[in-house]
Amino acid sequence: MVEIQFPGRPPLQITHVLSDINGTLCLDGCLIDGVLERINELKRSVEITLLSANTTGTGPQVAQTLGVHYLSIQPGDEIRQKVTVLRQLGVGNTITLGQGANDAGMLREAALGICVLSREGTAISALQAADLVVPDITTALDLIITPLRITATLRA
Ligand SMILES: [Mg+2]
Repeated sequence: MVEIQFPGRPPLQITHVLSDINGTLCLDGCLIDGVLERINELKRSVEITLLSANTTGTGPQVAQTLGVHYLSIQPGDEIRQKVTVLRQLGVGNTITLGQGANDAGMLREAALGICVLSREGTAISALQAADLVVPDITTALDLIITPLRITATLRA
């Protein structure tokens, strides 16, 4: 579990990370540098699930390389499908990572939604739905590894 403290309110107790693949963890189907090491570190404290429309066809292989859970979504109503998975994992104990329009619902509804600025581009709807926006995926994963950074930014 990863605990994120906020002065004056209950901490977030995070047991799951739910992430988009393409544009978030990968560019053109290939893992972005630095992701593998950070996922390996995070796996020691949280369950990690990857969720993808599998645009590039490499989703299952990426999940296998990282040693994490993989779920595919089908074309049509993709926002709702991703939210359904989030609710199954538990809205209050899950951090979501994404950048596409189909990530907007899970970014909004999760205990903490982190939007990544991507070389694939970032949908404005995803950006507006998130709690935090970061410049790249390694920064996002480092926030979860070092949750005091999240406390510093979101305390209010
Ligand atoms: Mg994406």
